[in-house]
Amino acid sequence: MEKTLILRFSKKTWNKPVIHGLSKSADLVFNILEAKVLPRQEAYAIMRLEGPEDEFEKGLEFLKTANVVVEEVPDKVLRDEESCMHCGTCTATCPSGALSVGPPPDFEIPLDLDLCVACGTCVKVCPVNAMQVFVI
Ligand code: SF4
Ligand code: SF4
Repeated sequence: MEKTLILRFSKKTWNKPVIHGLSKSADLVFNILEAKVLPRQEAYAIMRLEGPEDEFEKGLEFLKTANVVVEEVPDKVLRDEESCMHCGTCTATCPSGALSVGPPPDFEIPLDLDLCVACGTCVKVCPVNAMQVFVI
C-alpha cells in the first residue's frame, strides 16, 4: 500500500530524530515531499510511504509513541484550511469543478477531491499559497 502522510511536530518534538526512528521501526520506503519548521518552532513533514500494511501499523505506532500527529492526505492535492480565505480565485481556473463557489450566505469554496485531476492550476493562482499538489 501507499499513503501520503503529514507528520506534525510540536515544539518539543520537531528537533528529535523521529524520521530516523521511523526508518528503524518499520520496513517502509519513504520519500519526503516537503518539510518545514514554522515560526513557533513547530514543524511538519509531508511524506509518501510505501510498504505492507503491517509495516504501516508499526510505523504509525512508533509515530504515536513519539508524540507526532499524523494526518493522511486523501489525494494528490491538499488545501491548508487555515490559510484559505475562500476568496474564490481558484474556482475560475479549476478545470474539473473540484473547486467551486458554495451556496449563500457564506459562499465558501468546497474542494471535491473526487473531481480533482491534480493539474496544479489552483496552486499557481491562490494568493495565499493554500493549495499544494504533490508529484508522486
Ligand atoms: S484561491 Fe486560495 S484562498 Fe482563494 S479560495 Fe482558492 S484555495 Fe482558498
Ligand atoms: S489541482 Fe487542478 S483540478 Fe485539482 S483542485 Fe486544483 S485546479 Fe482543480
